[in-house]
Amino acid sequence: MTGEEFVPHSYGMQIETLGDAWYHDARLWMACAYGKREGLKTIRECWYRKDLDLETLICTRGRDFPLAMLATRLRCPRCGSRQIRVVWNFPTLDKRNSAAAGPKGRG
Ligand SMILES: [Zn+2]
Repeated sequence: MTGEEFVPHSYGMQIETLGDAWYHDARLWMACAYGKREGLKTIRECWYRKDLDLETLICTRGRDFPLAMLATRLRCPRCGSRQIRVVWNFPTLDKRNSAAAGPKGRG
């Protein structure tokens, strides 16, 4: 656990826990990364993707749960892989940074 994999440094502020992310009205989804790093055999990539509900996560994990650990607790329901990427979106901070963004984002 290095903590280097996910910290949204680019926003210039520390958002380390689910509670922090909730405060900033964050959206998130998970994406299965299965199939990307098997060097020898060719396997089909899974590409499962699912929007996650931050509020529900806080109810189950608690406000102080570190964002960096979230991916390690998730599993792909389609292929069972633990290679899960968690993608965060901070609409309120994005608005500040890029006023020209569309209303529905780029997905
Ligand atoms: Zn999968």
